[in-house]
Amino acid sequence: LIEHDEVKMGDLAVATSHRVNGVSALHSDLVRRDLFADFEALTPGRIVNVTNGITPRRWLKLANPALADLVTERVGSGWETDLDRLAGLTDHADDPVFLEAFGHTKHVAKQRFTHWLHDAHGVELPQHAIFDVQAKRIHEYKRQLLNILWTIAHYQRISADPHADWTPHVKIFAGKAAPGYVVAKDIIRLINDVAHVVNSDPITRDKLRVVFPPNYSVTMAEHLIPAADLSEQISTAGMEASGTGNMKFALNGALTIGTLDGANVEIREHVGPDNFFLFGLTADEVAARREVPDHARAAIEASPALQGVLHAIATGAFSPDEPGRYASLVDLLWSSDWFLVASDFDAYDAAQQQVDRAYRDPNAWQKMAIANIARIGYFSSDRAVREYMTEIWNAG
Ligand SMILES: *Cc1c(COP(=O)(O)O)cnc(C)c1O
Repeated sequence: LIEHDEVKMGDLAVATSHRVNGVSALHSDLVRRDLFADFEALTPGRIVNVTNGITPRRWLKLANPALADLVTERVGSGWETDLDRLAGLTDHADDPVFLEAFGHTKHVAKQRFTHWLHDAHGVELPQHAIFDVQAKRIHEYKRQLLNILWTIAHYQRISADPHADWTPHVKIFAGKAAPGYVVAKDIIRLINDVAHVVNSDPITRDKLRVVFPPNYSVTMAEHLIPAADLSEQISTAGMEASGTGNMKFALNGALTIGTLDGANVEIREHVGPDNFFLFGLTADEVAARREVPDHARAAIEASPALQGVLHAIATGAFSPDEPGRYASLVDLLWSSDWFLVASDFDAYDAAQQQVDRAYRDPNAWQKMAIANIARIGYFSSDRAVREYMTEIWNAG
């Protein structure tokens, strides 16, 4: 418990605990296999898994009344305390009236968020675009950097061929960083600088917008999540313990673009692989890639799109008043890239192109969204609390 004159806080926590929860199947497995393998051998059964959940009262009934009313109309009341009843929506998934009504609830939520954003921050958004949302604390492992680098690549492609038939995107970022987290603050500033350039470009304005309302909070989440079409869950595999934002978005009929990380793995199993945009290295592949010397340089040199993005940032395209502003961020990507942004860039790009194609068929998209809602019941916090009672507290 004490090594090199330091207390090992994680080990101390495990040693003194009745049970330790990994909060998703993948993370519990990693905790048992890698992080606390000695404890697993010494006290087998102490490390357990209860996958996290979210409350349907806040994240559907309160946050999204239009969708909540439609759900009640189709499966009756009672889902609020028994979320598995959402499975009843499967019977309605081919009903054109229901699909249309679901589309309307999404439209209402997008309008409500847009009005809220306009009142609070003076920003206007085009309603017909994909609302493509990444809302979570800013951290390198959550890879907001991957998202904004892709946004720049997309901007460059639209600029090069503005009259092609692009699927319009509104890229919405929300999240806070610790004041002392220098790299996170560079990423925040880059997103804001890119937003400034992209949003004031008359050639691309109708095809791409970037917004970053400040001070992410539960109140903002209650407005933002119901409005999302696409949920960004793109952490480096092996690093997100569970995530709960991923569950909130799926419950509100957003489709996920995501890695096999945290509870994404189980969400994908529940909603079906055809209703989830998967990309990227697995946790074991991440561990192996980190051992490859110069993996970041190799990945960048293999990706013309990423090279173009990094060149633009490094030459001050988004910070003309201070061209060297992102020198250290760009250097971090070329030299170390612990979170494998470069290694996953092309796979993310391919998944985003799949998203664009899918969004062009509103009926097919809505069916996928409804499949997500219908099969997300497992991720209720009521189920999680019940499992704590029976598996951990012996109170069931
Ligand atoms: C749900 C929620 C989170 C957690 O989001 P993740 O995507 O799971 O990291 C963070 N902040 C707020 C305000 C939330 O509502």
